[in-house]
Amino acid sequence: MLRYEDVPGRVYDVLEFVKKGWFPELKGAKILPVFNTQMARNKGKVVLASIRKANDLQKYLTVEGQSKSTTGYDYILTLDKVTWRRAGKENRIRIIRHELRHTQVHMSSTDPWGLRGHSIEDFYSEIKLNKRDPRWAQKLVGITEAVYSAKRKEANLRKKGGIE
Ligand SMILES: [Zn+2]
Repeated sequence: MLRYEDVPGRVYDVLEFVKKGWFPELKGAKILPVFNTQMARNKGKVVLASIRKANDLQKYLTVEGQSKSTTGYDYILTLDKVTWRRAGKENRIRIIRHELRHTQVHMSSTDPWGLRGHSIEDFYSEIKLNKRDPRWAQKLVGITEAVYSAKRKEANLRKKGGIE
């Protein structure tokens, strides 16, 4: 089984909704969302989603992607599949909105699609937007860890012949 999977069309709908609502400058950016089917960690912390700039090879490999784009994608948005499936509508928007905050657009540049990091857990503008549930990400991390841990236990049991 491959680690990464195509996402259903609904993910593209949420992505478009977030782009339109909060990131008009990303209108011309091609963003490829993919599911990661294995839990990722960065410095020990569970990664619910991440965004990267497509390198030249990834651009080339995504030329005939779902958008039938002729130039490939500018960004690759990786979403933990377990997290996404357990997240409600509002949290799905929060996840993508957080990731798109990592983009930095330089329109005057020949390659306008940049990235930026953050020194705190969430961006200041996101803290305001998420004030109804400031611990949304921590909660999703807890759910995600529990689901993967249950999957591991089940796989171990199956190996031992405990369950079918
Ligand atoms: Zn972040």
